[in-house]
Amino acid sequence: MNKSIYLDYAAATPLDPRVFKVMQPYFTEHFYNPSALYLASRSVKAALNEARTQVAKLLTARPAEIIFTAGGTEANNICIRGVMEQYPGKRVLISTIEHESVRETAGEYACGEIGVDKNGLLDSVDLVSQLDDDVVLISVILASNEIGTIQDLRSISEIIANTKKDRRTRGVKTPLYFHTDATQAAAYLNLSPKIYGVDFMTINGGKIYGPKQSGILYVCSGSTLKPIITGGGQEKNLRSGTENVAACIGFAMALNIAQKSTKSESERLTNLRDWLRMELEKLSKGIVFHGHKVKRLPNHLSFAIPGKDNERLVMELDELGFMVATGSACSAAKTEASHALQAMGVNKELAQSTLRLTLGRQTTKAEINSFIKTLTSLLAKNL
Ligand code: PLP
Repeated sequence: MNKSIYLDYAAATPLDPRVFKVMQPYFTEHFYNPSALYLASRSVKAALNEARTQVAKLLTARPAEIIFTAGGTEANNICIRGVMEQYPGKRVLISTIEHESVRETAGEYACGEIGVDKNGLLDSVDLVSQLDDDVVLISVILASNEIGTIQDLRSISEIIANTKKDRRTRGVKTPLYFHTDATQAAAYLNLSPKIYGVDFMTINGGKIYGPKQSGILYVCSGSTLKPIITGGGQEKNLRSGTENVAACIGFAMALNIAQKSTKSESERLTNLRDWLRMELEKLSKGIVFHGHKVKRLPNHLSFAIPGKDNERLVMELDELGFMVATGSACSAAKTEASHALQAMGVNKELAQSTLRLTLGRQTTKAEINSFIKTLTSLLAKNL
């Protein structure tokens, strides 16, 4: 059999060899604990700080605003729990299409869900109607892992700014923070938190050709979080534990490479993805595409072939050498229909006929061609 074709880059990306190279010395000769006092340790600490400065520059933020974490789930937890634990009884609002690491965590507190329209865009009227004086945190994913839709965070942050102003004039002391999970967006979009107007931002190294369990939480200066991981006080006391220096350095390098090629990769992948979409339209008349047609990640395509069981299709495609997903990586092992798709009004049957294809750096036109041919013969055989 030929080498398998990977079309699930939203689930995981291969480590870039350039990233691997800069990480390696920190596993071996530079293994020292950055908090130790001898000279060798101080150079490790300096390298860690250099990585932090590099990340801050890419985000047009300050180094002190960058907290290294072990991936996206941890960053989301540090943020949501860190805000909510300070304000018992107060509320958090999230969109109905958040990743499980946001949904499950926010769900442990008083949590309201803001609806989305049929394209997955946040319903701002619903947001305003739920935004009472008890809300301390709003979390909205920048680009959906399941449907690829990119949110207009700027307009959400304007609503938040007006609400804060209104609270001030009425003497309401409850703060209001805005968090976004930018995990899936980091290889394609500008990541400056200021342009989106957010206080917190999650970025995940494992989705940008960096190491898994690497990432950051951007914490805007002036915002306070209660630490949920306590100990030695590393990472401004927000993520205690000896720093995974290799992962932090790898993450910084991965983000640097990803952010330098957002334009070229976006163009290349949009062309490939649009061509794939066109071919799929020809292949099956009833095919239904999910998510916004324009405001979407360049590498992302989510679609349903009515009447087809998605899990069976994934397994059949796997046998034929194609790795694709039914939805989010986390829910890949679950059999329920996607919560996000249903929140957009997609019925359960269609949700269970949905495939998610996500392209990446190694994806070529020949691979897409081969996928289309294989799917065509598979569907013809299954008729
Ligand atoms: N947020 C989003 C949008 C994701 O897609 C994922 C992973 O798929 C995560 C958070 C969690 O990332 P990790 O499992 O690496 O912690």
